Amino acid sequence: MFQLASKNLASSNILIVDDDEISSTLIAAILSEVCQCFTVSNALDALDFCENNLPDLMVVDVNMPGMDGLTLCKKIKQSKATEDVPVIFITSNTGENSQNDCWQAGCSDFVPKPVIAQTLIHRVKNQLLSKLRLDAIMKMTFHDSLTGLYNRNYITQEYPILARQLNRDQQPLGLIIFDVDNFKQYNDTYGHLQGDICLARVADAMRKFGRRARDALVRFGGEEFIALLPNTSLTDTTRLANQIIQAVFNLNIPHTTSSLGRVTLSAGAVSVQNFDQYVLDEVIEQADINLYDAKLEGKNQVVAS
Ligand SMILES: [Mg+2]
Repeated sequence: MFQLASKNLASSNILIVDDDEISSTLIAAILSEVCQCFTVSNALDALDFCENNLPDLMVVDVNMPGMDGLTLCKKIKQSKATEDVPVIFITSNTGENSQNDCWQAGCSDFVPKPVIAQTLIHRVKNQLLSKLRLDAIMKMTFHDSLTGLYNRNYITQEYPILARQLNRDQQPLGLIIFDVDNFKQYNDTYGHLQGDICLARVADAMRKFGRRARDALVRFGGEEFIALLPNTSLTDTTRLANQIIQAVFNLNIPHTTSSLGRVTLSAGAVSVQNFDQYVLDEVIEQADINLYDAKLEGKNQVVAS
């Protein structure tokens, strides 16, 4: 089952970016007593690294051939995927203008060269602890503690941003609302604790299908889930709804008071375009009408329009 507990300092990852191998080896040696360290020797490798393996913090040399540390930091801060990663600069230029350049680029702190080990350790620890606390708060604010999926806060906050962007790009938004069939009877038969376990298993099955970074699976209410699918046509939205319904059917969770004998989902799917005129509630309402039809038509199925 999903755990809300956050990472600790020792399991945090930091990425050291420095063209000077002696310097990066030294920094890694100093910091490896605090957390796990990875090193790369240039900015492009650092960006590559972040694509597959988001670090909790970066320690970046300002002076590097090719893309320098300041430019790298600006890129990190401009990308939604990496903007929350704190950057600590290592710099030999500590003049007033150079310091200002570091702050302007978006760093969280900087450490002068030659590096004093204890200063580096304390500055890294401070930034990492703040980052871990922020991560934990974000997790609690935007995730459902039972299933680990996003919660209603997330969709309320994310939707207007998404809607604006998709409209600008003339792209559709797919939305599916799922409801566990006969869930009240499930709770009445097996108890609420088993009901919670059932919901967590359904969420785990759904999670396997939220593959793209911007797809969001949300526990919307008790036994109601929403999949928010940017850039997704009605055909693809419907296909995904069917896959998830099948995956939950295949879990084969016994449900003796359901006519289907096992836990199943019904779904209502829509894909909307040019929808800045809609508020989220209206899109959900369209999907809800389809969900209602799916229930009427015998459950364990999707109705799309
Ligand atoms: Mg250098």
